[in-house]
Amino acid sequence: MNDEVKVTQEINHEFWMRHALTLAQRAQDEGEVPVGAVLVLDNQPIGEGWNRPIGRHDPTAHAEIMALRQGGQVMQNYRLLEATLYVTLEPCVMCAGAMVHSRIGRLVYGADDLKTGAAGSLLDVLRHPGMNHQVAIESGVLADACSAMLSDFFRLRRAQQKALKQAAKTAGGH
Ligand SMILES: [Zn+2]
Repeated sequence: MNDEVKVTQEINHEFWMRHALTLAQRAQDEGEVPVGAVLVLDNQPIGEGWNRPIGRHDPTAHAEIMALRQGGQVMQNYRLLEATLYVTLEPCVMCAGAMVHSRIGRLVYGADDLKTGAAGSLLDVLRHPGMNHQVAIESGVLADACSAMLSDFFRLRRAQQKALKQAAKTAGGH
């Protein structure tokens, strides 16, 4: 890859990751853990998703799954060859499995998920040598912004829970 192509690709990666971050914000606005995903083919978005398992009462309603589902509808095909999925956080085992089934060409993600990441942190589902389809991976795109969004969310939630506990104690009259 020559330098010019590489620079263009990096700019594209950041552009779409910024888009995924705005989708993550939507999850946060709905009280969900802020993760966003956008599926891109030929530089066009064909699927968007944000994390919404709580609101949907659906354990599979992760950002990546939502984006892949929409992409399948748009393409009228369950195979999404050559598509690139941008997601703000390293995918879990379920989402990585769905990516293999969808046959996407590439995953680009922001922050590592050291506890449950299935793109190399906990497991490496996407590059497992026994897998019938391998997905190329690029990580660390806008990683600071992606992980700050998550850590801010959890910090705020902890503070809210602490305040609630404190209020309950006060109301108890002790
Ligand atoms: Zn997932």
